Parts: sequence; C-alpha cells; structure tokens
Amino acid sequence: MQKRLERLRTELKEQQLDAIITYHAVNRRYISGFTGSAGLVIVSQDHAVLLTDFRYIDQAQEEAPDFKVINHHRDEKGAILRQLQAMGVKRLGFEKQAVTFDVYEEWRSHFDGIELVPTVGMIERLRMIKDESELAVIREAVRIADEAFSHILGYIKPGVRERDVALELEYFMKKNGAEGAAFDIIVASGERGALPHGRASGKVIQAGEMVTMDFGALYQGYASDITRTVAVGEPDPQMKKIYEIVQKAQQNGVAKIRAGMTGREADALTRDVIAAAGYGEAFGHSTGHGLGLEVHERPGLAMNSDMVLAPGMLVTVEPGIYISGLGGVRIEDDVLITENGCEILTRSTKELLILPI
Ligand code: ZN
Ligand code: ZN
Repeated sequence: MQKRLERLRTELKEQQLDAIITYHAVNRRYISGFTGSAGLVIVSQDHAVLLTDFRYIDQAQEEAPDFKVINHHRDEKGAILRQLQAMGVKRLGFEKQAVTFDVYEEWRSHFDGIELVPTVGMIERLRMIKDESELAVIREAVRIADEAFSHILGYIKPGVRERDVALELEYFMKKNGAEGAAFDIIVASGERGALPHGRASGKVIQAGEMVTMDFGALYQGYASDITRTVAVGEPDPQMKKIYEIVQKAQQNGVAKIRAGMTGREADALTRDVIAAAGYGEAFGHSTGHGLGLEVHERPGLAMNSDMVLAPGMLVTVEPGIYISGLGGVRIEDDVLITENGCEILTRSTKELLILPI
C-alpha cells in the first residue's frame, strides 16, 4: 500500500491539492486495503487517515496498517473537518462521481476556508497499472474461471437449461475458492446468442445450438472475465463460419496489442478483421475493457478511447458477431499488457469445441 500512497501523493502534487478524500468503496479499498463497506479515507502528503464507525475499527486497523484509523462516532462531517484542520488542508480534492450533491452542499456549508476541488479518475488512473500483489490474485481469479470452463464442458448437453449451466459454473467457482461470480453469468444458446448480454434464462439447450458463456470469478476482490462459445453437436454451417471470423479477429487482437497503442488502435485490431469479412454491422460493442477490482474499469479498448496502453494494464479482448434470428459468437481473453506485447492469462482453448450429444 505504501507504493500506492506514494503514487497518489505524486498525483496530488501535480494537481496542487493538499489532500484528497474518497468515499468510493473500490478506491478506498485500493488505496488503504480496508474491505469494509463503510468509511472514507483522506490522504495528504504527510497523513493518511481512515474514518469509519465502531463496527469496523478492528478490521480497519488490521487491514489498513498504513492508515491512522479514526472512529467518527456518528459525526462524520465533524470528524472530517477536524482532520482537515489538523492536516492544514486548504485545497481538498473530492471525487465528483462518488459524492452526492447533498453531501457536497453539506461540506461546502461546513468546511469554512477549505476549497473543494472536483476530481475525476485520479485513483482510477493509478488502478490501471497492476502491481505484483494484484497480479498474483488476478492470476488465481483467472485460473478458477479456466477450470470452471473445463468442468462445464462435461455438463452441457441437450435438455439442460441455460440457468443450470450458470448455476453450475457459479457453484464450481465457489467450491474452488472464489468469493462468487464476478458478475451475473451470461449463458446464451441458439438464437439467444444474438443477445450480447443474454443473462442465463430458463431456455433449454438443443442439439445443434451454439452456447456463449461469459463469466468470471471474484477472488480476493478481483475479477476475471472470460467468454467462450461452444457447439452442442454439429452446428449450422453459417455459425461455424462466424466462429472462424471471430476467432481470427480475437487472435489478431491478442497477437498485436501492445503498449503505446491507443484504445482506439487496439479496438481496430479485431474490428477491422470482422468488417473485412462483411460482418462489421454485427459487432456492436467495443473490443475490450480494463479489469481489476471492478469488472469494467479503465482503459477502454473502444473506437472513442484515446487512452494509451502501458505495461501492467490488464484488459479483455472480446470481439463478437451477433445475428438476430440466428445466434452469436464471442471469444474473450484477459490479457496483461507487457513491454513487448501481451501475456494471455486465460488458458482455455479457443478452437471450436463440438460437444458430443
Ligand atoms: Zn465477459
Ligand atoms: Zn468483458
């Protein structure tokens, strides 16, 4: 956490802020280590304090050893003000996307002589570059998801409902150390495959259908996120052709993505392959997103993203083709941007698997 604090303090200096206050649960956890559901942190050049209530004092002291833990005794506003005054804060950064208008107004009327400066994405930018301790946890989250995929191949057969596949995936991941599924599991079979975010339904899987599964494990707060599409018995020839195109696009993405590219350039790696095959209109979402304490975080690999990729960023590469009335295919890997390209963390095969019926 010391390293994270140092990076945040450099940012504070650059933005000429005396301190930053964060309520945002994920940012609070990232910067302090505290996993409780209530509290806030204030970080200045010389101080790092964590204010919470009596339920969390012991936990906070244990999880956030670099922070001075303070019980606000149900007077949060008063406790914040006392800390700010003790630290000599004149310019206070706050996260404008995490503070409600109500709280802002209260602060403004009570924090005499303290300038409230809205900030956007300050801690989120730090979170983009994963450190070694994060990578170790993420690798485990990915490993659990890969194992769940191997396991589910023996479970899927005609007659099984999408919902049962989702439950089995979640059960397996939890049995194998995950806190839970990282997000609502997508299982979309047959024509439902055309829904990019088709949550598992009561639909029964039929022979000849393709099944897209998009899921991930939540492990020590970090998410993995993988998508594979498999066939249950021999699929429709057009679906097979679509699979090949998506596979080629995804392969091109992971083969060429590298540090120094913008999110837009990375997006084009998969999009151009799909467009060249005549399916540009059928790929309606972005190529990928950052991944970490949140399932969707910075940087985006999208047509409108100017963010520049750097070593240590973890992103997904997940092109897809969706055709209403027919079905869809998506393939998604989690990749770590390195000095010379990327390391693909997800190991599950991307060859088309035709499951026996
Ligand atoms: Zn996904
Ligand atoms: Zn994703």
